[in-house]
Amino acid sequence: MNAADMGTDLERVLVTEEEIQNRLQEMAAEIDSDYHGRDLLLVGVLKGAVMVMADLSRKISSPIQMDWMAVSSYGSGTKSSGVVRILKDLDRDISGKHVLVVEDIIDSGLTLSWLVANLESRGPASIEVATLLRKPDALKVDVTVKYVGFDIPDEFVVGYGLDYAERYRNLPFVGLLAPAVYS
Ligand code: 5GP
Ligand code: MG
Ligand code: MG
Repeated sequence: MNAADMGTDLERVLVTEEEIQNRLQEMAAEIDSDYHGRDLLLVGVLKGAVMVMADLSRKISSPIQMDWMAVSSYGSGTKSSGVVRILKDLDRDISGKHVLVVEDIIDSGLTLSWLVANLESRGPASIEVATLLRKPDALKVDVTVKYVGFDIPDEFVVGYGLDYAERYRNLPFVGLLAPAVYS
């Protein structure tokens, strides 16, 4: 799917495919140098992080392991509450492992801070976070995000894994929906 196929659904492209891929390459190089020689486990948060995980992991040169979690965050409407339920847990134990949580976007940061605390209680050797996108509110939460792709304004975005009613995840770029789509 490309911008033209979206017709009137799309207001504008916020981060292009090329910008995403270039930034992920830079992040992968940082990750390679930070973790050199250490066993790294990437933990992807379903479903939004699927694209970031696929592209970031292929740009990392060091051997890695991969696992996935799915969580649902309860909240009113589009805001998350920080009350989180695990829909799919990790398949393996993470004790003693260097864990890098891979996220699509951090908005309030409530889901992520719950997730990091949960994973921390399992005794990993280290735990860090990589996200493609970060919104301004995320800075208010006490979670250190080591690798950030792009800081974006506080607007609802879709594409590159991010959905609106399960649509638009397959866009290779990140864009803003036209208000008419959700109003
Ligand atoms: P947080 O707990 O940080 O507020 O929520 C993070 C989750 O909310 C993301 O993983 C994503 O599922 C959803 N989310 C937050 N902002 C956006 C956005 O702009 N677009 C889309 N599609 N989902 C978002
Ligand atoms: Mg996410
Ligand atoms: Mg969603």
